[in-house]
Amino acid sequence: MLSFDYQALPWNIVFGVGSLQRLPEELAKLGYRRAMVLTTPRRGEQGQKIVELLAEHAVSLFDRAVMHVPVATVEQAIAEMDRTGADCSVSLGGGSTTGLGKALALKKQLPNIVIPTTYAGSEMTNIWGMTEHGRKLTGRDNAVVPKLTIYDPELTLGLPPRIAGPSGLNAMAQAAVNVTAAKINPMVSMMALEAVRLLSRSLPKIINNPQDLEARSEALFGASLAGASLGTGVTSLHHRLCHTFGGSFNTPHAETHTILLPHSIAYNALATSEGTRQLASAMGVKDAAVGLFELAKAVGAPTSLKEIGFREEDLDRAAAIATEKPLNNPEPVTEASIRRLLEDAYMGFEPSSF
Ligand code: NAD
Repeated sequence: MLSFDYQALPWNIVFGVGSLQRLPEELAKLGYRRAMVLTTPRRGEQGQKIVELLAEHAVSLFDRAVMHVPVATVEQAIAEMDRTGADCSVSLGGGSTTGLGKALALKKQLPNIVIPTTYAGSEMTNIWGMTEHGRKLTGRDNAVVPKLTIYDPELTLGLPPRIAGPSGLNAMAQAAVNVTAAKINPMVSMMALEAVRLLSRSLPKIINNPQDLEARSEALFGASLAGASLGTGVTSLHHRLCHTFGGSFNTPHAETHTILLPHSIAYNALATSEGTRQLASAMGVKDAAVGLFELAKAVGAPTSLKEIGFREEDLDRAAAIATEKPLNNPEPVTEASIRRLLEDAYMGFEPSSF
């Protein structure tokens, strides 16, 4: 018999080709007049275009967002916000830029608007993250959910395949863990399965033809739904592992997800057999974990920790950090079992059930 709890998040979305042009009118509707535009260092030129689009309603461009939201960067952005009297942030970019906007929403109650240009999906979640002293702290707070998200697939056309593949698999991870959760939530699972279907279909098309706007649009919608499923669903072993690697070893976020996902799904496969079957069916494959591993290869993404420069001698420490706090996971977790999982991921072996 059905039994579930579900609480939606206060999403406010404008989606469609050309929708970026609606930013000034949407900002006015929300009553904001002094936007601080956020980007990563290499996206400063695109950030400048947002400043020009907002004209007198943009007070500054802060182009120092970096991966994993270091607390030092948040403090610099707060100083800039205080100096300019900004009344909202507009993040243009991937999860790193969205993450900075979320940190400002959390620490300074600065309303955030997000214009995603990768498939990170962070804009649909209430999860914030910040890194300090080699550890990534995360939490959930509805205050970090953007007041507005503008999805314009045209902004993703320039996302190179080497970033698009892992980024899409990062979104896939959010959906996959929610299809294979210990207790299936039918509302969350519905969004997650559609995300899996859209992403597995569109990502290979994007790699073959990065200018395929239809596929870009599907992937962006897939990422949004994946983020929505994570935002209203759960995280589990997979996210614990990724946060361990990102926070303590500074590994690249999306690539870490891509490499670990097939192994985390395989680890929980027996304990979540119905969800794992549905995941495989949404991907159109026989075995979900192997299908994810093959998809990563098909989009040219890394499939081993070795490839991204992780050192074998750090595997013990990673397993210890990942298991130092109790974890709610469908399959029981021990330091030894995680060490085995990580060994497979380090070597780039095809995932196998435990
Ligand atoms: P990112 O934001 O660092 O972007 C990766 C690179 O792509 C950057 O160099 C960026 O400048 C570039 N880029 C972005 N858009 C581009 C475009 N359209 N064309 C060309 N280059 C472009 O990486 P990401 O993978 O999007 O996000 C990773 C971060 O997001 C991590 O810190 C992760 O923890 C966080 N995240 C958080 C959540 C959440 O729910 N809180 C969810 C997913 C990811």
